[in-house]
Amino acid sequence: MLETALERALTLLRAARKLDGEAQAHALANLEAALEEDRAAARGQSGHGADKADDVLVEIDQGGYLIGWNPGAEAMFGYSPAEAIGQHVLFLYCADDEDADIAELFPSQLGGLTEVRRRKKNGDVIWLQLVLTPAHDAAGQPRGMLVQMSPAGLLDGDAKQRLHARIIEDSEQGVLITDHLERIVSVNSAFTRITGYSQSESIGRTPDLLRSGTHDAEFRGRVRAAMRGHGTWRGEIIGRRKNGELFPQSVTVSVVRDPNGEITNTFSLFSDISVHKDAEARMQRMANYDSLTGLPNRSLLNHLFGQVLAASRRNNDRGALLVLDVSRIGAISDTLGHELANELIGTIGVMLRMALRDADILARIDGCKYAIGLQAVGTREQAGLVARKLLDLLAAPITVGGHSLKVNADVGIATYPEDSADTATLMHCAEMALARASESGAGILFYREEMDLSARENMLLETELRQALAGNQLELHYQPKVSLRSGRIVGAEALIRWRHPERGMIRPDVFIPLAEESGLIVEIGNWVLEEACRQVRQWMDEGLAMPPIAVNLSARQFDTGLPARVQAVLERHGVLPGQIMLEITESLLVRGADLVITIMNQLVAMGMALALDDFGTGYSSLAYLKKFPISVLKIDRSFVTGLPFDEHDCAIARAIVTMARQLRQEIVAEGVETREQMTFLRELGCDQLQGYLFSPAALASDFAQMQREGKRLMVTAEVQKV
Ligand code: C2E
Ligand code: CA
Ligand code: CA
Repeated sequence: MLETALERALTLLRAARKLDGEAQAHALANLEAALEEDRAAARGQSGHGADKADDVLVEIDQGGYLIGWNPGAEAMFGYSPAEAIGQHVLFLYCADDEDADIAELFPSQLGGLTEVRRRKKNGDVIWLQLVLTPAHDAAGQPRGMLVQMSPAGLLDGDAKQRLHARIIEDSEQGVLITDHLERIVSVNSAFTRITGYSQSESIGRTPDLLRSGTHDAEFRGRVRAAMRGHGTWRGEIIGRRKNGELFPQSVTVSVVRDPNGEITNTFSLFSDISVHKDAEARMQRMANYDSLTGLPNRSLLNHLFGQVLAASRRNNDRGALLVLDVSRIGAISDTLGHELANELIGTIGVMLRMALRDADILARIDGCKYAIGLQAVGTREQAGLVARKLLDLLAAPITVGGHSLKVNADVGIATYPEDSADTATLMHCAEMALARASESGAGILFYREEMDLSARENMLLETELRQALAGNQLELHYQPKVSLRSGRIVGAEALIRWRHPERGMIRPDVFIPLAEESGLIVEIGNWVLEEACRQVRQWMDEGLAMPPIAVNLSARQFDTGLPARVQAVLERHGVLPGQIMLEITESLLVRGADLVITIMNQLVAMGMALALDDFGTGYSSLAYLKKFPISVLKIDRSFVTGLPFDEHDCAIARAIVTMARQLRQEIVAEGVETREQMTFLRELGCDQLQGYLFSPAALASDFAQMQREGKRLMVTAEVQKV
């Protein structure tokens, strides 16, 4: 017993060193008292019964400093007497206790019961019930307060449950409680306010309801492990509201265990921090996530996919990188508005995310381009199946803002480790496969080495094309257009040719798309206009009466400077605007319609006629066409080919002609090769024909010769018989 007394004395002395004069005096007085107490205990009489094993008993002086700390207190709070004694009692309070005020101990609750929150050494918060008794020293002077504590249990049964239910319901934080199977058993109204899901929509479901897809399986595994280990996980995660919107939330997830340690429930407290997340975090997000879809952007994709590749190297895993491009969104934006197009992009993001596994990475890397990282894909075919699934998903009309919209999509696939083991190269391969997939209409293509070869080939060609432009290797050929009434030549289209020094004549289908891609088309286009005008001038000088010559324009030439550029070229060669006609394609019409109309109107005001090329292959509808000052429609060759035997082609040709007549436009049929086609088109009411039936594109001199000779097409059977 004496050891105990000495031990306590030592403890008190140590504690006293930390205190100021007055408190030290108290502590020393207390030491006296304690020693006295121990002496009494040694004599077999217990003072207050303070050390009964299961009692938690502490004593504070009148200033609130701890002067007594029994083993029960040590067991409950985790502080040894040496750590506790001499501290102010406030050190047991929870940091966020707003009413942290020791006045609660004096004097009104004397002898009474009160239920309070306190914090243990390990940070855990416990609810305690206090019984307070004044303490006196040996001389009978008030010494402070004896505080007996026991775990709270003041509110029993129903009352307590009602109170807790009330607190949960009124909480500003969203509360979600699940059972041991992770089924939601309870949510509060803040939950509904934040997420948009009502009680009935959420109860019985799992918290996956709110899963944003932003976090990978590994992350979620870490949260689970933390909960199994310490029982609590705190952090910030991205959730998804019922309306699809993503939101950052600050979450605490805890578990409740039964006496055997089995988890019976989990509960999450979360708050929507989308409004008050600090600027830095928002910047961070903006740098990593695409604001429209909430999906990772290209830079985060590089990071995430880099991790996947690193892991796959360790585990010898295989996988794939897909790039998916959605087309027609530009046209939708032009016709139905930018906001609707944005909404559509967001919706597609959600659709793709939902169709993919959680472990798959989905990022939006460009306007209408998404990248998908597939992990642990056993075979190439599996990656192909995923691509097929995504395309099928997007093939059905998508409802956005009350519109039912149809989009098109293509996918390029690169696989690792076959194609490469680094993100940049895989991305390059997938993009190349994508380009081929959309070009060829295949929809889905795997990367092949030949693609790279042809890409290199193209680069070479592009370099050579620049030289061709400078070195007079380009020339214009002229394909006549003839009237279906008189059979006479009424115009011609200038078509570019490349006389390559080694490869011979290269057709425009090969190099025009390349020039479009590289931007070289603008220079080429300028050259074509210049050359056509020069030729027309030359024919005029030779005294030849020539019909209007049509020049093809690329959409990239169509900027606000175009009318002035055209005017300058015409003037330079002394050519009238009516002698040149411009052919444009539908792709131009869907691009920023208002600006395009303005430019077209300027050209028309100058006295030029505009023809719409390849009509029927694109997007245009009659209502849409009305907005543009176009005087000639050229029916695309693909519809002429099947005439007059293919029912479908006949129907289309008939519809186009009917439509064009309503708009009072002249109709030219392209690529007419047979008399049957000609007859059908003439009877339909087509005005002109252009095609091999009459002549392919010819050298300028040959075309001039036809004109001089007055070459004609026999357009009627009667004439033919003669
Ligand atoms: P396009 O404007 O649709 O030109 C008509 C194409 O059909 C020409 O091919 C012409 O030779 C071909 N064609 C004409 N009649 C027939 C026929 O009866 N049967 C068949 N099978 N084909 C016929 P070409 O000259 O190879 O031009 C291909 C495309 O290259 C043009 O299609 C046009 O889009 C583009 N292009 C040609 N020259 C230029 C130019 O100066 N500038 C721009 N931007 N593009 C050009
Ligand atoms: Ca054309
Ligand atoms: Ca055409």
